[in-house]
This record gives sequence, C-alpha cells and structure tokens, in this order.
Amino acid sequence: MWMHARAAVLRLLKPVLDFALPPRCGGCGAIVDEVDSFCAKCWSQIEFLGSGGCAVCGLPLEGTEIDNCGRCLARPPRLQRSRAATAYGEISRSIALKFKYGRKVALGRTMARFMAPLLDQLPDNAVLVPVPLHRGRIWRRGFNQSAIVARELARRLGVDFSVDALQRVKPTPPLKGLSMQQRRRTVAGAFRANPKAELRGRTVVLVDDVLTTGSTANACARALKRAGAERVELVSWTRVLRPSHLD
Ligand SMILES: [Zn+2]
Ligand SMILES: [Zn+2]
Repeated sequence: MWMHARAAVLRLLKPVLDFALPPRCGGCGAIVDEVDSFCAKCWSQIEFLGSGGCAVCGLPLEGTEIDNCGRCLARPPRLQRSRAATAYGEISRSIALKFKYGRKVALGRTMARFMAPLLDQLPDNAVLVPVPLHRGRIWRRGFNQSAIVARELARRLGVDFSVDALQRVKPTPPLKGLSMQQRRRTVAGAFRANPKAELRGRTVVLVDDVLTTGSTANACARALKRAGAERVELVSWTRVLRPSHLD
C-alpha cells in the first residue's frame, strides 16, 4: 500500500522535478536554455538532414534527378519513405550510444523532438512501430530504446503507437562489419507481424535509432506488408550517409 502511495507521489512530482532541473545539452550535458536541445557547440557539429533529398530514400539527389533518385526509380524499395533527423557523425552517434547503453531516457525525448517534423504528412490511419529487439536483448538491456522514441513521437504527433505490432522471432548477431548481402541474409525471416495487430490498409512508420544500410528495416517492411500494411515508412534519429562509417 505504502509503495503505491509513494509511486503515486513520485509520479505527481516528476513533472515538477523535470521543470526544476536545468535542461542539459543532449550531446555534452552542458546546461542549456531550452529542454530537449543542444548547446551551440554540439549544435554546430550535428548535421541535421530535414526532409530534402530523394522523396523515397531521402538520400541527396544528383543534379539531373528531380524527385526520386535513379536507384529508387529503377527499383522502388519496399520502404516507401525513409527519413533521418541527422547524419551519422560523432555527436549524433554518441547520443544514440548513450541512449542505448546509458539508459538516459530523456535523450529519447530529444531525439523525438527532431524526428517529429519529418513526419508531418501522415494519414489518420498511421501507426508508429518500433523496430523490435529480441526478447533476450530486452532482458539484458532493460528496454527497447526505439519503443521509447516511438511512444514519444506518437504523443507529439497524435497518431497510434503499437509497441508489439512487429516481433523479432529470431535473435540476430550485430550486423557491424557485414556486407550488404550478408546483412540481408542475416535478418531474413527475423521479423513477424503480430497476428493480433491491425495493420491492414494502414501506413506503418518504423522507428529506429540508427539507420545504416536499411537491411533490418527492409526485413521489417517485408513482414509488415505481408500482414497487409499498405505503406511502410521509416524514421530514424541518425543515418549513415557515407559507407566508410559502416564499420
Ligand atoms: Zn553540448
Ligand atoms: Zn532514392
């Protein structure tokens, strides 16, 4: 009984505490003026990407390309739109790592703040779905970081959020250092749509922290489309633009 009361008091106090503590830079921890933001130094070192580039994959367009890049025109990808808030660099990477391993949940809010503007044209039937972790990894880590960001994004955008519409049915080793083809093979069959999730005819937005080659997101999109999703998009905090950053 007492524990319940204590939890209730803490819940009540939390917004007050958040308010009373000075906001800190998501990159270096320096005190800043605004919540969920960065100091001037970190800000200048983060490359924000915005909504430009290819209308499908979001990568920069060549001079001769109009809306879609040549690759997306030649072979339309399963992910009908991919966007990332930032280019993968020292600060954006350290934020993703701190968030994943340092359990700084507040960073999830900061990420969502900069990801939300990329999702300004979602239909009413959209649902946000985190790229799932295998259960074993959730137990070790304690939480799925993408679920925290997806929940925060859903709150900001006023759209549905489903933590378990997608399930990881087999654990996969880290993809680091693998070739594109090896990655594809490793994640094949790793995901399954939850039979209880209502996905038919809907736009599903996958939420991830780091987008590298997209092989994981692609395997997710395949499972979602099989379950009837009409359109699958992806939004991530940061994205590798230069292949040399892959390993
Ligand atoms: Zn900073
Ligand atoms: Zn493209």
